[in-house]
Amino acid sequence: MKYVLVTGGVVSGLGKGVTASSIGVVLKACGLRVTSIKIDPYLNTDAGTMSPFEHGEVFVLDDGGEVDLDLGNYERFLDVTLTKDNNITTGKIFQSVIEKERKGDYLGKTVQVVPHITDAIKDWIESVSAIPVDGKDGPADVCVIELGGTVGDIESMPFIEALRQLSFSVGQDNFCLVHVSLIPVLGVVGEQKTKPTQHSVRELRALGLTPHLLACRSAQPLLENTKEKLSQFCHVPAANILNIHDVPNIWHVPLLLRNQNAHDAILKQLNLLSFAMPPALQ
Ligand code: ADP
Repeated sequence: MKYVLVTGGVVSGLGKGVTASSIGVVLKACGLRVTSIKIDPYLNTDAGTMSPFEHGEVFVLDDGGEVDLDLGNYERFLDVTLTKDNNITTGKIFQSVIEKERKGDYLGKTVQVVPHITDAIKDWIESVSAIPVDGKDGPADVCVIELGGTVGDIESMPFIEALRQLSFSVGQDNFCLVHVSLIPVLGVVGEQKTKPTQHSVRELRALGLTPHLLACRSAQPLLENTKEKLSQFCHVPAANILNIHDVPNIWHVPLLLRNQNAHDAILKQLNLLSFAMPPALQ
């Protein structure tokens, strides 16, 4: 299994869900079978009891799972049918670890965030990514994982650590990290500012994860010198810096990715060079 992890920096509500779904669309267009997992680092076990004013509407899956609305984006963008286990929350992970502890499965060991919670997260990701969701037999080729929240949040630390360990265990050719970040424009001069992104990439690297692609959210398309600056200071090749500026509706985002050859950069990172976008879709 190959993993594409989508993280977010600077602020929440940047469009990680839309970006992750759109990455799935371009990979699917290249002939890959794609599944997805959404991680929500809150303590609720699911979104069923959460106020729609705070989190948007609850999305109900075919198996009755009440989940984050991003799973609706995944189902619509990728034409898949997800299960409630494709939405991981801190609540679900802690519940499973505590149930195991009560049954005595840890054989008297002190149950801790590392390694027990992080192991539970890795096991959950590995087993859920193998569930076929597109009506065909066998596991998908690529699993797109969206980590909710913003890098550096206390809540997401166990997930970041588990994903760091996962990236190490699956190896470089099987893991691609796309970091979605904000490029604000300040003042009347209209300069695109890269500093918030530099800081969030530094934070990510301090936690042991290095982004392979940057997906930059901005009001207007990125200027060439903004890209160069980002590349130099964030240690990401300029070809892997994607511009996801504001668009009139979210169905434009997969096209933005395709026009910037995001699929090529991801396929290269995942060593999947035998796949390519068919000429009719280019
Ligand atoms: P996150 O997963 O980071 O919380 P979402 O993917 O839910 O963010 O997106 C937040 C909001 O931003 C949604 O209403 C979505 O439609 C909108 N959005 C995302 N990407 C874009 C874009 N490129 N242009 C315009 N609106 C966008």
